Amino acid sequence: MQWIDIGVNLTHDSFDADRDAVIERARAAGVSQMLITGADLASSEAAVQLARAHPRTLFATAGVHPHHASQLQAQHLPALRSLLSRPEVLAAGECGLDYHRNYSPREAQLRAFEWQLQLAAECGKPLFLHQRAAHADFVALLRNYRATLSGGVAHCFTGTAAELEDYLELGLSIGITGWFCDERRGTHLAALAARIPARRLLLETDAPYLLPRDLRPRPKSRRNEPMYLPHIGAAVARARAESAEQCAAHTSAHARELFQIAALGAAS
Ligand SMILES: [Zn+2]
Repeated sequence: MQWIDIGVNLTHDSFDADRDAVIERARAAGVSQMLITGADLASSEAAVQLARAHPRTLFATAGVHPHHASQLQAQHLPALRSLLSRPEVLAAGECGLDYHRNYSPREAQLRAFEWQLQLAAECGKPLFLHQRAAHADFVALLRNYRATLSGGVAHCFTGTAAELEDYLELGLSIGITGWFCDERRGTHLAALAARIPARRLLLETDAPYLLPRDLRPRPKSRRNEPMYLPHIGAAVARARAESAEQCAAHTSAHARELFQIAALGAAS
């Protein structure tokens, strides 16, 4: 079985001491390829460097997270455009809107998101999308750009049935994290997981965040790692009444299709 983790924040400093061991543990657990999330220009550049050091195993996204939107100015767009044109960069993001915390003012978030929608269209790369408490504005902007986009993933989907319908109707794929395994706030997702077509479903850990709460034995560290992706996959497979093998096969196939990842072992 081979799994693909489409969202790992592997440049996070909590991995500084043992990053290579984390990658090795993930591979030993069957997580054969990973997409490293960029959240601002510096971490996107770091994600590209990491991907370059692990060709065919690690890949990067490049973008500016809505929390950091106020840092993105017009003068930075050429740098972001050149990151997005790198072969290691498979998606534009993490980008989107987050009105839950409003770490950046809404106007700055809307401006940064629209710039990144335009760059994604220009570079022909799919989007890696973040949305929290901003569904209406988020969907409205995506609808405006839909005809120019090369698809994308609503990462860490935790929303309602109506939100899921909106995303599917927009042609987006759905990223499921260990939130799914959270007995306090993730149980509604089991019914929704069965409604996601196999060719729209992706899995991600969002490590080091969102450690699945039902891991047994409980890891000593609160840090999540990509090696726990098969645990999330098994839970999602149960909710969809399919085997873990089937879930690994179709989520990996869809990740390869959306992000144009070459299968390991395929000729380069
Ligand atoms: Zn996010």
